[in-house]
Amino acid sequence: MSIARERIDRLEALAKEAATANEDERAREYVALARRIAERNRLRLPRSFERFTCDRCDRYLRPGRNARVRLQDGHVVLTCECGAHHRYPYRP
Ligand SMILES: [Zn+2]
Repeated sequence: MSIARERIDRLEALAKEAATANEDERAREYVALARRIAERNRLRLPRSFERFTCDRCDRYLRPGRNARVRLQDGHVVLTCECGAHHRYPYRP
C-alpha cells in the first residue's frame, strides 16, 4: 500500500469522525485534502469515499442530516445540501 493511499484512507476516517461530531468545516477540509492527494498521485478514491462526499462542495455526506436519499429507477440518488445530486446504481 502506498503512502498516498494510506493518507487518503486516514483522511476519510478523520472526515467521518469530524462529520459525526458535527464539525462539518473540519470534515470538508479533510475531504478536500484527500481529493488533492488522490489527484496528485493519480489514484482513484475509494468507492466509500466517492459515495459519501460531495464532489461539488466537498461535504462529507450524512444521509438524513446533510443529504437526502431517494430511490429512483434502480438508482440511489443522494442530494447534498448544496444542491448537487449523486446517483449510483442500487443493487439489492
Ligand atoms: Zn455539495
